[in-house]
Amino acid sequence: MIWLILAALAVALGLLLRELARIGRRAVAVVESQQAPKRLDLEVRRLERLEPGGTPENPIEVAAPSVVEAHAGRTPCPRCEGPMEVDEHAVEEHAGERLRVARVRCRSCGHRRTQYFRLARLN
Ligand SMILES: [Zn+2]
Repeated sequence: MIWLILAALAVALGLLLRELARIGRRAVAVVESQQAPKRLDLEVRRLERLEPGGTPENPIEVAAPSVVEAHAGRTPCPRCEGPMEVDEHAVEEHAGERLRVARVRCRSCGHRRTQYFRLARLN
């Protein structure tokens, strides 16, 4: 009789452990899905910095200031590939060099980014 009770307890314990593992896996999945948008955003930012014009150290070379806005507006949103709009076109100095800076915003998702341009020197 005692063996029967022990066997029943062992089965119950096994089921309980399996259920706990299932709950644990679900909790991990929920946490991961909550962090996904943030992770995507970080990944997009990282890729933006690697692209030409993504940092002041790696500006896109253009022939004239008028090209800056056309170029910045033509590059699709890195997040949703929606059309980008130029919010601001400024001149900033980085490491002793004057660069053109375009601050653009996605018309679909509102994502903002900055692109750096250098005016080609005329010979
Ligand atoms: Zn977008």
